[in-house]
Parts: sequence; structure tokens; C-alpha cells
Amino acid sequence: MKGKTRAQEICKELGLKLTPQRMAILGYLDGNIAHPSAEDIYSAVSKRFPGMSRATVYNTLASLRDKGKLLELTIDPAKKRYDPDTKPHHHLICLECKRVSDIDRMFDLELPDSLGYDITGNHIEFYGYCPECRSTRT
Ligand SMILES: [Zn+2]
Ligand SMILES: [Zn+2]
Repeated sequence: MKGKTRAQEICKELGLKLTPQRMAILGYLDGNIAHPSAEDIYSAVSKRFPGMSRATVYNTLASLRDKGKLLELTIDPAKKRYDPDTKPHHHLICLECKRVSDIDRMFDLELPDSLGYDITGNHIEFYGYCPECRSTRT
């Protein structure tokens, strides 16, 4: 692809200085469906940039999240995960290996008007055992 990369566009949009480290973070997240934690992102990107600080990762993630370019999942309170897919979708969580998978199907959920809320979104978490973990459980 010629011209600007997606990472460059996002940096410009967020008013972030375009550094090789940020490019690498954005590149790592682009199309990533593994829902990595900040630590996962740090360890992957710091392989290429050994001098990179955790603060760079955390700050970049916070900027992306604040601008709606990244979903922050608090499924596991001890370990926030990040999802570059910002369109509404639900998640499947494996209780054994803790993997988080996307559910592309949407569900028709209606809440009674009597609650008085103007509903802007929802997020459903399904828990269970993934195919790999199921096969090793007895
Ligand atoms: Zn599993
Ligand atoms: Zn997701």
C-alpha cells in the first residue's frame, strides 16, 4: 500500500507524535482478534524495541481508548484487555485458558421502558470451555 499507513492516519487523528514504537503498537493491534492485555502488547512490541517503556504502551492505549479507537475490556478486573474492533460485539470467555473470542452475532435485547434508561449499548459475556480445553477436560 502506498501513501499513509493506517497507523500513521490514526496517530495524526489522535494528535500523537508518530514514533516507530507507536507505529509498532498500532500495527500489532490492527486486526488483532486475540484481545491482548497491555502486558501482552508490551512484550510483543518490546521484542522489536527493547528500550521501549511500559508507559509508552499504556499512554498509547489510553489515547486510543479515549478517542474510541480501542475497546478496553474489563472482563478480568486484574487484567484489562484491548480490542481494536470497536463495533459492538459480544465475547466468549474460556474459564480454563482465559482466551477471549468474539461473537459476531448480535442478540435482540429489549429492556422495559419502565426502567427509564436511554440505552446506548450492551455487552454480553458467555463463559465456558473452548474446544481445545474441552478436549483435555475429563
Ligand atoms: Zn480454553
Ligand atoms: Zn472482541
